[in-house]
Amino acid sequence: MNNLSERLEALSPSETLAMSQRSAELKAQGIDVINLSVGEPDFNTPDHIKAAAKEAIEQNFSFYSPVPGFLGLRKAISAKLEHENQLTYKPEQILCSTGAKQSLCNVLLSIINPGDEVIVPAPYWVSYVEMVKLAEGKNVVVHTDIDHDFKMTPQQLQNAITPRTKAFILCSPSNPTGSVYSKDELAALADVLANNPNVIVISDEIYEHINYVGKHESIAQFASVRDRVVVVNGVSKGYAMTGWRIGWIAAPQWVVAACNKLQGQYTSAPNSIAQKAAEAAYTGDQTCVGTMRVAFERRRDLMVQLANEIPDVKINIPQGAFYLFPDVSAYLGKTFQGKKMETGADLSSYLLEEAHVACVGGNAFGAPSCIRLSYAAADEQLVEAMHRIKAALLKLS
Ligand code: PMP
Ligand code: GLU
Repeated sequence: MNNLSERLEALSPSETLAMSQRSAELKAQGIDVINLSVGEPDFNTPDHIKAAAKEAIEQNFSFYSPVPGFLGLRKAISAKLEHENQLTYKPEQILCSTGAKQSLCNVLLSIINPGDEVIVPAPYWVSYVEMVKLAEGKNVVVHTDIDHDFKMTPQQLQNAITPRTKAFILCSPSNPTGSVYSKDELAALADVLANNPNVIVISDEIYEHINYVGKHESIAQFASVRDRVVVVNGVSKGYAMTGWRIGWIAAPQWVVAACNKLQGQYTSAPNSIAQKAAEAAYTGDQTCVGTMRVAFERRRDLMVQLANEIPDVKINIPQGAFYLFPDVSAYLGKTFQGKKMETGADLSSYLLEEAHVACVGGNAFGAPSCIRLSYAAADEQLVEAMHRIKAALLKLS
């Protein structure tokens, strides 16, 4: 029997998580797979954050917390936004969820009516388009290219806006390209949006702290759009806390109220111990954030150098996050033992089977001529993985 909803049937599984799963299965069979598929820091959660969680258990923070999260955590996030981003949000404008993934999904389910258009610049993070589908919205994918560092121009944004446009999803620093929009580039996008007052901006800033070009810039800083920007962020990436599952939005009151209602019927507040840990992350010593960023930057440099040693692979230099998103078109159309590599997805399967390196085909990100490599791994593994990839690519004919 198959009696699933059309909504669910339309949904694709998460390719990032699927590749990671395949890599784990091969590893369990004893195969030496290097996993550069899933995007998560390879660092342990810093000790002072773990200590706060242990203390929270001892102090019996074992009850339901308020749906939007403990006031202490929301105050800490409000203070962080003020100090780090010069953005003023009251704690009532902040809502914590089970990862930024739920934050994004809450927002889309709260604002999208069937058929509403959502502008998604590609390459995009896998889950955006699936979440829009779940909300019965229509994805308006705008393709950007590597020669423009995969960034959307104001003209492209303008051209994509129609009377049905409900939202625009911006991700900077970007997963999967590592591109970072400068303050001027954000200002130019905000100028376009200023003339289109019905468009809500969903600004995914989860990689805020993994930025190699200096201060993080948020589109929420521009007065012309400020009252319709939803900032999405969380502790997963910057504080190496992916498994704790704490994300949040800072948003206009009406969006927060809607997400609060949805979340209250759906999952309630996120895990109470993880909230106490996240509070410690925001209020505690920030040295760990800088230390991890420096390590990622060193690996970025290493990956760029190694990728440049592979003939005909084209790259942009990532300015943030921990992904390299090479264009591998030169290898598409080639074959291995009679099997033709049509897209980045075929190539990523080939690399897993033949080179034992797990990465993610660009198809999942709306860019089938690319593959995504996460460099949140030890330097030796990166060197070995890139040598294996080079050897495997050169075997194609
Ligand atoms: N946005 C982007 C761009 C991401 O890469 C991720 C990582 N999965 C998320 C949101 C969600 O992060 P989390 O749910 O772990 O907070
Ligand atoms: N953000 C990570 C990635 O893109 C985690 C996996 C996921 O949540 O899809 O790989």
